[in-house]
Amino acid sequence: MDAENNPAPVRRFHPTASGFRWDDVPVKVYKPEGAHFRDVTRQVLFEGTAELPTQVRYFELAPGGHSTFERHEHPHAVFVLRGRGRVLVGETVAPVTPFDLVHVPPMAWHQFRAASDAPLGFVCLVPCDRDRPMRPTPDEAAALRAHPVLRDFIRL
Ligand code: MN
Repeated sequence: MDAENNPAPVRRFHPTASGFRWDDVPVKVYKPEGAHFRDVTRQVLFEGTAELPTQVRYFELAPGGHSTFERHEHPHAVFVLRGRGRVLVGETVAPVTPFDLVHVPPMAWHQFRAASDAPLGFVCLVPCDRDRPMRPTPDEAAALRAHPVLRDFIRL
């Protein structure tokens, strides 16, 4: 079976000691490079097609890990599957556990952080055709570091 272009109708789920896995779904690096994230893996569960132009990814943050602080025009629809952590969306910081739902609207700053003693795994839906994430400018970063709610949470 050609897993990339013609996936099996059913790809089975396998919880492992090092994280959630699925048949024929490779574990990838989160982003090619950068110091603005920590201990994140990425798995593409559904690539998206012309008929269903949505990509479904599974991200897993190791304990203490965090995703990039970013924003972009495309939204995210997130479904938490594993562990425990907190999420920032806009100016809201909230705890998340399975099976919470997180909606990230267009251009909202967002960041996911695993608890110090637990991983955080979540499914994230995005459009296949999407803009690149933007990180804060130096002026935006200075304002964020002074924000009463965000300053203690964000990892830039
Ligand atoms: Mn994002």
